[in-house]
Amino acid sequence: MSIATLETDILILGSGGAGLFAALHAHQTNPELHITIAVKGLLGKCGCTRMVQGGYNVALAEGDSVERHFMDTIEGGKWLSDQELAWTLVSKAVERIRELENELGCFFDRNPDGTVHQKAFAGQTFDRTVHKGDLTGIEIINRLAEQVWSRGINRLEEHRAIELIHSKDGKSLAGVLMLNMQTGQFTLVRAKAVLLATGGGPTMYKYHTPSGDKSCDGLAMALRAGLTLRDMEMVQFHPTGLLAGPGTRMTGTVIEEGLRGAGGYLLNGNQERFMGNYDPRNERATRDIVSRSINSEIRAGRATPNGGVYIQMSHLGPENVRKQFKGMVERCADSGFDLTNDLVEVVPTAHYMMGGLVFKKDCSTDLPGLFAAGEDTGGVHGANRLGGNGVANSTVYGGIAGEEMAHWVSSQALQECNMAEVLSSIKAHEAPLEKPAGDIEIIRDALAECMWDDVGISRTKESLLRARVKLDQLGQQLDQMGVGDIARQYSITWQDWMNLQNLILVSKSVTESAISRENSRGSHYSADFPEPGSMEDSYFTAINLHGQSLSIENRPVQFSLVKPGETILVET
Ligand SMILES: Cc1cc2nc3c(=O)[nH]c(=O)nc-3n(C[C@H](O)[C@H](O)[C@H](O)COP(=O)(O)OP(=O)(O)OC[C@H]3O[C@@H](n4cnc5c(N)ncnc54)[C@H](O)[C@@H]3O)c2cc1C
Repeated sequence: MSIATLETDILILGSGGAGLFAALHAHQTNPELHITIAVKGLLGKCGCTRMVQGGYNVALAEGDSVERHFMDTIEGGKWLSDQELAWTLVSKAVERIRELENELGCFFDRNPDGTVHQKAFAGQTFDRTVHKGDLTGIEIINRLAEQVWSRGINRLEEHRAIELIHSKDGKSLAGVLMLNMQTGQFTLVRAKAVLLATGGGPTMYKYHTPSGDKSCDGLAMALRAGLTLRDMEMVQFHPTGLLAGPGTRMTGTVIEEGLRGAGGYLLNGNQERFMGNYDPRNERATRDIVSRSINSEIRAGRATPNGGVYIQMSHLGPENVRKQFKGMVERCADSGFDLTNDLVEVVPTAHYMMGGLVFKKDCSTDLPGLFAAGEDTGGVHGANRLGGNGVANSTVYGGIAGEEMAHWVSSQALQECNMAEVLSSIKAHEAPLEKPAGDIEIIRDALAECMWDDVGISRTKESLLRARVKLDQLGQQLDQMGVGDIARQYSITWQDWMNLQNLILVSKSVTESAISRENSRGSHYSADFPEPGSMEDSYFTAINLHGQSLSIENRPVQFSLVKPGETILVET
């Protein structure tokens, strides 16, 4: 079989904040390099960075400090973060926001005195979230995309990465097997360095926020390539997804955290404010606590007509709300709700995966030639990500990855690809085209229900074991079900089949990691093990795929900069 082959120095998978920053920094480091961005959608138009509303956490203002941002991140992550990674995040964020503003031309909101405006986000001891209204991601991605377009960086748009391909000797990564979604043909891209920046994204849950192009492809490919994922049980639920009723895709989309930061109230179905019963910080508690509290109200029978709770903003003044949260007011209005004057129904929605590929602070991984950045990686946020630390993570580490890859490739040659891996992956991905068409929507719905009910905000040993069995069944059902002999060009059904295959594998890794954790930390809550356990003996889960089975290990957290109960803040 002849397969189209391309060669490049650096191949970047994904064009979110991580992918685009990596391309720019690699180009800045060495403009002579041949750099290619391959992306499932269109560059600048896909991924979650574009969807960022609230903003970007960075310690800029007087009275704040990198140390304070670090301690908030570690405490928010319930002491499970890799501290070197967290420190790199908070310290480099200062440089990156200046770069975004002064080099790339992002226009962030300002105070009357000309300083950058920073708003409150939950779980932070200082108001440090930089933003452009509540549509910050569009500003960041538009400016980044303009720069990438103007620099002659190669683009493979509507190209889906389907397999990481090892070198012939198995010791390093030699390239990536891609599917051209426009033609349905496979292309093998050989590269000296590859960046995994496909952005995680828990779209296997009934209610979810990430963009539809995200189906955990990078995580699934990493598992199949023999790499270790960590913290996979840590799935963050955003407390306030819009509950617009059935039959609209607006349900699940985020009503941003700044609303609660600014003083918004949550009310249950009886219109009682309830957060004070769960946490002294009320609505400004961290996302895990607010999501669990809402879940408890719903399960106690105090839900709204559509099964959620209400957010109330009217007490802050309609004009003020309209001015501060223009995008949110419009989003609600699009679905027939008046955020400025009325109650709006919301429900927790799966938002972010703290877990991901094990990587180092220079973005290298255990597989030479493979680098990783952004939401595909694990360890930065521990058990819970602070709102505003996500886009900081992708842009900080994307930039680092670009520089590191540019240096790395200067001493590397292209490797021969293991063609047995290529052929076997093509065979596996073409298999559904050779089987009669079934209704894969049934499998998608069953997956969404299973993950929501049994591996959701509150878990039990029993629910997780039930999910284990269900996910095995769904995997087998999908293997047996085809999509029929359909045209390969722009085949949404075939793409959906591949999305589901990856989502089921990654859902299994979330479930197995959750089974392995015998305490409750951050976003993982088990009713059987409600206590957080000893902080000093904190461990993180590490999962691998061997053949068809997943193996899991609990590894101790290294407190390299600060120990539980201590702080690096100096009292003044
Ligand atoms: C609605 C919403 C609001 C958010 N608001 C905030 C906020 O206010 N503050 C904050 O800090 N964080 C926020 N986040 C989180 C933040 O968006 C992410 O943490 C971060 O932007 C992820 O960046 P990334 O580059 O890793 O991934 P993404 O930006 O998601 O980019 C992933 C890219 O990979 C591509 N891709 C996927 N699969 C493949 C494949 N198989 N082959 C090729 N390409 C592929 C996608 O098309 C996309 O281009 C929000 C997320 C959502 C969903």
